[in-house]
Amino acid sequence: MCADYTNPETIVLHTGHHGDPTTGSVAVPIYQTTSYQFKDTDHAENLFALKELGNIYTRIMNPTQDILEQRVAAMEGGVAALAVASGQAASMYSVMNLCRSGDNFVCSTDIYGGTWNLFANTLKDFGVECRFVNPADPQEFADATDDKTRCYYAETLPNPKLNVFPIKEVADIGKKLGVPLIMDNTAAPLLCRPLDHGAAIVMYSTTKYIGGHGTSIGGILVDGGNFDWEAGGDKFPSLNHPDPSYHGAVWTEAVKPLGPIAYILRARVILLRDVGAATTPSNAFNVIQGLETLPLRMREHCANAEKVVEYLKKHKKVTSVIFPGVQDGEARRRADAYMKGGYGSLVGFELKGGKKAGKKFIDSLQMLFHVANIGDARSLAIHPASTTHSQLSPEEQIQTGVTDGYVRLSIGIEHIDDIISDLDQALASA
Ligand code: PLP
Repeated sequence: MCADYTNPETIVLHTGHHGDPTTGSVAVPIYQTTSYQFKDTDHAENLFALKELGNIYTRIMNPTQDILEQRVAAMEGGVAALAVASGQAASMYSVMNLCRSGDNFVCSTDIYGGTWNLFANTLKDFGVECRFVNPADPQEFADATDDKTRCYYAETLPNPKLNVFPIKEVADIGKKLGVPLIMDNTAAPLLCRPLDHGAAIVMYSTTKYIGGHGTSIGGILVDGGNFDWEAGGDKFPSLNHPDPSYHGAVWTEAVKPLGPIAYILRARVILLRDVGAATTPSNAFNVIQGLETLPLRMREHCANAEKVVEYLKKHKKVTSVIFPGVQDGEARRRADAYMKGGYGSLVGFELKGGKKAGKKFIDSLQMLFHVANIGDARSLAIHPASTTHSQLSPEEQIQTGVTDGYVRLSIGIEHIDDIISDLDQALASA
């Protein structure tokens, strides 16, 4: 029996597991199994009919995965979670769970490039239209909404611009129009809880800060249990209409004895069952290893990032520093309204010498890794104009916030003196 903890430091270590019931194992075990022995035929029948919740097959659920899900759901203040194989799978499922061919959803332009491709191209091929709008003006979400709009989608702390998203403003618009807001909180775990500001669903690439060790790809969806799907009626047929693939179950009805988990239950028993982007038990375990120290690491990430920002601001080769804590005006107001305990560990800066200097800086780094990743315990750097954003036209690069001399850092938890010393010697040669 586990207590209902509310402090994240305790949740990540204790929620959902207090010793394995059979072996007493203190560490969460890796339940490396594909399937589960039913007690008898009644038990099997009840599990399949969802009269009883329990393990059937690891494509759909697994006890290691379950503990990860319970911990992340508790950390976010949600009612339930679903761990999947990658952040991309989580983004895909988050939208697929609500949209059908002919439907649309409205999405912030400031999102990760992989999500952009998925939404702008792959989902389009399935007949689902993504309408991109500028998050600087929340009203654009309202203006792009029509009777086929099924959800809004945005990132809390999108890079490279690092402008914090107006979560409450857009969630409030969604509440008026009956549209749930899905937030990708990958870059701001613990610093922001989007559900507290009115979002309905939170998703993560756990590959980043939550895993933290850079060992495992993963994703997770959290259901806030705070959106009235039934009030949407025909707008959400996947949740409110009989499901022919599950002997006519109506998910909003079926979950009544279980709590407000229609969205996440359907994602599990329909999308995960059919599409199968399941996480592996060992990856769920690896992510748990990271999650257990996430609060400590986030504090260190944020403190180091602040010091790097102070250092960069004074450097003569740096023309500007991009970081929520140095913004002003509305961007800063949003940063302070939504980020608590730090502004994250992503830091951008522009070099006087443009592209040549940006590349030279990266090539001169000795400790920071040059990778297309963020949120590792190690410090990372990339020059977007010559890598992640190189396929974009110069105008598109500027729109996404990437100039020729822009460098993105993901500050890790090494000793700050070593981080600054590496930046210093690389800047000297840039
Ligand atoms: N969301 C954000 C903000 C990301 O940065 C990424 C990956 O870089 C993803 C989603 C996709 O996650 P994954 O690489 O785990 O599929």
